[in-house]
Amino acid sequence: MGRRSANSLVKRLKDSDFCFLDVGWSKFPITFHSNLKSEDGQKCDGLCEWSPTEIKIEEKQTEFGVREAIIHEIFHVITATVGLDYASEGDDDRVLEVKNEDLVTRISRGFILAQQLNIELFEVLMEKYK
Ligand SMILES: [Zn+2]
Repeated sequence: MGRRSANSLVKRLKDSDFCFLDVGWSKFPITFHSNLKSEDGQKCDGLCEWSPTEIKIEEKQTEFGVREAIIHEIFHVITATVGLDYASEGDDDRVLEVKNEDLVTRISRGFILAQQLNIELFEVLMEKYK
């Protein structure tokens, strides 16, 4: 359950050969850290690096936390992939103004792309909690 330490999910991913997110234009290795901090020194559960590409995850948190942090960072990559954020242009994370239908189309296509290129990673992340 949620109180269980993150070790099993972290360990499974670390021990796997699919501990990265492939989005076609780049691969983001998923790496685990203790006391992860953002550029401005704030404690954080996960973050994306864009050059070189990497998803960094705080490993000292619950399994719920680790899973959510990985999925959260995957969606940062998906939204950047389909042109829905400015993450590569400084610190401005504003979403482009876009109508709901187009937003949903872009996010759902980005999600399918990420899921299809990362079948094993998504299988682990989408498992029902025990
Ligand atoms: Zn975020």
